[in-house]
This record gives sequence, C-alpha cells and structure tokens, in this order.
Amino acid sequence: MGTGKLIVLTGPSGVGKGTLLRSLLKQHPELYLSISVTTRAPRLGEVDGKDYYFVSRSTFERMVAKGELLEWAEFANNCYGTPRIPVETQIRQGKWVILEIELQGARQIRQTFPEALRIFILPPSLPELEYRIRNRGQDTEEAIVRRLRRAQEEIDAASEFDIQIVNDDFEKALGRIEATLFATATC
Ligand code: 5GP
Repeated sequence: MGTGKLIVLTGPSGVGKGTLLRSLLKQHPELYLSISVTTRAPRLGEVDGKDYYFVSRSTFERMVAKGELLEWAEFANNCYGTPRIPVETQIRQGKWVILEIELQGARQIRQTFPEALRIFILPPSLPELEYRIRNRGQDTEEAIVRRLRRAQEEIDAASEFDIQIVNDDFEKALGRIEATLFATATC
C-alpha cells in the first residue's frame, strides 16, 4: 500500500477550483475528495452528501465542540469545515486526500499537517475573477461583494503556499496541478 498524503487546494471563490477538481478526480479516481460540512444553503443543483453536507448552525457548532472537524472557518457569513474521521481514515489506508478549502482552514492544516502539499490557485486578474463570480449568477450582490473582498485577502497570502498555479487556461492549469501532484509522489 502507498503512503497516504494530504493535499490542500485553496484559491479565491470563483477561481475555478471546483471545475479543476472535478476534472482531476475524473482522470484520477484513486484520489479521495473530502466532503465538507457547511451552514450555507445549497445552490441550485447542489446535492447533500455529494457537494457538501448541509447542516444547521447548531449542528455545526456541536461538531466543532466535539472536535469532529479537522479545520473550520467562517466565510462570507457561513461556516465550513472538514470532517476529521473520513480524512484520517483514508490517509491511514494510504490514500491521497484532497481538501478544497479557504485560507483560514489551509492555515490550520499547516499547523496540524505540516507535511500536507498546499496548492494555491490564482485568477488571471481580479477583474476576471469578478466577471467569473458574477457570471456564475449564484450569489446575491451582498455575497459577491463579501467574496471579492475576501478574494483579495486570499490572493495576498498566495506566497504562503508550496505552489501557485494561475488558472488562465483550464487545460494548462489542470496539467500543472497533475504535474505538481505526481512529480512529488514518493510511491
Ligand atoms: P462556496 O460557498 O463557494 O462553496 O465555498 C466558499 C469557500 O469555502 C471556498 O473558498 C471553499 O474552498 C471554502 N470551503 C469549502 N469547504 C471548506 C471547508 O471544509 N473548510 C474551509 N476552511 N473552507 C471550505
């Protein structure tokens, strides 16, 4: 059995992490994507247990209190967290586990899993990011403004990560993620 590994993928909302991840998982079904819990309401088409576990704030707070989350953060007025047990189990079984999480969570993982490979996805520019978030048509104006403010803070922290990848061209960005993952493979 190979050695388990934790991979953290971070980048501002709207940068295209989700689309990149879906392609990556399709091509590498051996990778395990952690499904987060969130207090955010489901977007159109999102499925409970597949995109997220959608929970109430009280359930989320109970999970935090019981230490059931590996990391968690508040983002644009909602809470997001990584269930601890599935991640630890998969890593113990030698799997490569991917967390798609925001900056605060990535910083917590740096403390608890210093050996994790941390990748930051950058947009080609802020105006392009704003265009993508607006074009997605899934957020209120208030949420868009909060996400853009947070995006700038996250981009400013990109250098804290092991690797930075600009998502200017989807195929190229995907290729760079694959090269990063499999070039650093130890088995
Ligand atoms: P969205 O609402 O667009 O699905 O996600 C908002 C942000 O929360 C994204 O940057 C996403 O990466 C992040 N996120 C999703 N799940 C988690 C999680 O479990 N923990 C943390 N810290 N961030 C998460």
